[in-house]
Amino acid sequence: MADSSQATKDLHGQHAVVTGGGSGIGAATAAALRRHGAEVTLFGRGEQRLAATAGELGVGYCVADVTDPASLKTAFAAAAQQRGPVSILVNNAGAAEARPFAKMDAEFWQFMMDVNLNGVYHCTREVIPPMLQGGFGRIINIASTAAQRGYAYVSAYTAAKHGVVGLTRSLALEYARKNITVNAVCPGYTNTDIITNSIKNIVAATGRSEEEALADLVKSNPQGRLIEPQEVADTVVWLCRKESSSITGQAISIAGGEVM
Ligand code: NDP
Repeated sequence: MADSSQATKDLHGQHAVVTGGGSGIGAATAAALRRHGAEVTLFGRGEQRLAATAGELGVGYCVADVTDPASLKTAFAAAAQQRGPVSILVNNAGAAEARPFAKMDAEFWQFMMDVNLNGVYHCTREVIPPMLQGGFGRIINIASTAAQRGYAYVSAYTAAKHGVVGLTRSLALEYARKNITVNAVCPGYTNTDIITNSIKNIVAATGRSEEEALADLVKSNPQGRLIEPQEVADTVVWLCRKESSSITGQAISIAGGEVM
């Protein structure tokens, strides 16, 4: 496993795009990739936060919505022009919204598919040609333990994330002889805005305290804690290394031993 504190420049010469890189797991991953010497471009919708994170990390950014193929095409072209062909893609952008199945309309279902699954498809389509041309590629999809097992009240999210793992496994086989690896990383509940918002929603819906809501969430993790974004970032860096070339088509849980 890569140790970010050593900051070896083993990713020097690579250009990584991290979608949803302005916050949470994406920002931690971008920072780790940068420490390891990669050029990095963050993608996201909110320019203010994106610019602030990019400035802090000393990386580039492009405003792009992963549900909008036209905005992605423009952003990938700009990123390549500024920092060279993209050789690492971290498909991290996502939204985790809960809704009971009976109250979930088709619009909500489509939104969850668009941001969590179709966005991965659109971004991956953009990077395959430069990866084939460069003879090297690393695609890491930030899925979830919800890609490996079911959870009540998040059926659309769970279905989309399972789709991400299916896409990961198929692409890994398709590009196995092209030095392009495709893996999914599957965190359990991780200490980011997504969890802060979930706790707020649980408190509002049930009247329980924040501590009770958090305790309920971490119950699924045998270590009884939230995962830290840095733990996910370190796993992504490890998968990006040249030495990790035989690891492909995997869905790697980062979940404190939660059984899948
Ligand atoms: P954040 O909310 O901090 O990150 C989500 C990021 O995605 C934001 O930076 C957001 O930026 C971006 N984003 C959302 N929609 C779009 C869009 N349409 N186009 C481009 N960017 C978009 O939460 P996390 O860091 O926790 O989430 C990152 C990933 O990790 C997600 O895929 C999530 O499903 C996954 N995950 C999270 C877990 C957790 O418990 N936190 C557990 C398992 C998986 P902006 O709004 O500016 O576009």
